[in-house]
Amino acid sequence: MKNKTIKELSSDLRKKEYSCIELTKYYLQRIKDYNPKLNSFITVTESEALGRARLADKLLASGDSNLLIGIPIAHKDNICTKNIRTTCGSNCMADFVPAEDAHVVGQLQKAAMPILGKTNLDEFAMGTSNERSAFGVSLNPWDLEKVPGGSSGGSAATVAARLAPVATGSDTGGSIRQPATFCGISALRPTYGAISRNGMVELSASLDQIGPMAKSVEDLAILLSYMTKTYKDYTAQLNNRVGDFTVGLPKEYFATDLDPAVASSIDEAMSVFEKLGVKFREISLPNFFLSVATYQILSTADAVRNLAKLDNKELLGTEVKRRMLVGDYVLRPEHYDKYYLQAQKVRRLICQDFEDAFKDVDLLLTPSTATSAFALNSQVKDPIKMYLNDIYMDGSSLAGLPALAIPSGFDEIMPIGFQLIGKRGFDSLLLNVGHQYQQHTDWHTIAPEGY
Ligand code: GLN
Repeated sequence: MKNKTIKELSSDLRKKEYSCIELTKYYLQRIKDYNPKLNSFITVTESEALGRARLADKLLASGDSNLLIGIPIAHKDNICTKNIRTTCGSNCMADFVPAEDAHVVGQLQKAAMPILGKTNLDEFAMGTSNERSAFGVSLNPWDLEKVPGGSSGGSAATVAARLAPVATGSDTGGSIRQPATFCGISALRPTYGAISRNGMVELSASLDQIGPMAKSVEDLAILLSYMTKTYKDYTAQLNNRVGDFTVGLPKEYFATDLDPAVASSIDEAMSVFEKLGVKFREISLPNFFLSVATYQILSTADAVRNLAKLDNKELLGTEVKRRMLVGDYVLRPEHYDKYYLQAQKVRRLICQDFEDAFKDVDLLLTPSTATSAFALNSQVKDPIKMYLNDIYMDGSSLAGLPALAIPSGFDEIMPIGFQLIGKRGFDSLLLNVGHQYQQHTDWHTIAPEGY
């Protein structure tokens, strides 16, 4: 049961092989068994989930054809859920119970998806390892000594350990894609603006993007169809031929210190695509190396403005405090031109680089992370090193482009993967290419041992 896709679960529910109540109880039991070890949930919402499951069983009996009916889900804990506390991984918000659902939660509630709980994250989504959560670090199910990535590490660990079939995450500068790669699952940062940010606790309004996290690209496409502002079928193009596409390989991304296992898994992925007729061409994104600094300046400036509204700032953790200092610094009148304005200009150049590249190619293939998941406590004292983990992520975030993380193998025991970046609004094309890769490989079907 735990490895089944949305389609398989939905078909079982419709054939009455089990009820939605039974399915939900099954996942709640898995959470009871494994969450004490993984800490991927901050809050588990058993009665809410069972109430919703009862409703889903009724909808199924009425013949409603929505594929998501009754499929349990976990939401990242910076996405507001009505009457369920939403902590943002912060002591400042430990008791915050929203009166309304975020828009995206409301969309999924129409399918009566039982909410199993709220997943762990770095405080206010500022982090790359989950070690910055006020609720304790979530661990990587592939190796409990390793981080699950961040900031959506709780959602990634939850899906990887099969504690929920699907989850939501948020990605400002990589927080959906990097943990997905560290945990061996598939995940999409959709085109900026495709999903409403209403009810997501803001980190940076011009960068924040909610997205789906799941075992397979097909599941992402199904979920995304119901997460966007209005329903759109993202599954329609999944089985299109990909043979006519030209994929760009940004040379700067490959000039970084890539772990040999990651590099060779990307080579293997490319040969899978070549067999499907895809052509590759080297392209250049000259401002690539400025993307992390640009991201940090712009996102910390936004963060300091957002967090100014909090009353009990003394409860904030070290990383959030650090970013508030940086944000305040870059916004001071005497620094504004040199940092903030300059970063805005560089952002424009980064966008232009992508626009130029997309004149020649249909999509890009890049590394997702340079290595597999790193060890707990290995980077937490070195913020710059931690920020540089986002090197492959920040450019596409700044440009508002869709980007898909896909597992493509293992180093020794840990999952590794690659990233596909698309033109703005071409999420369906990315999902099409990703799905075809998964039709010819089985990395995405492998679960960590012991779960
Ligand atoms: N890791 C990045 C950061 O630390 C991205 C965070 C995010 O996408 N929410 O800011």
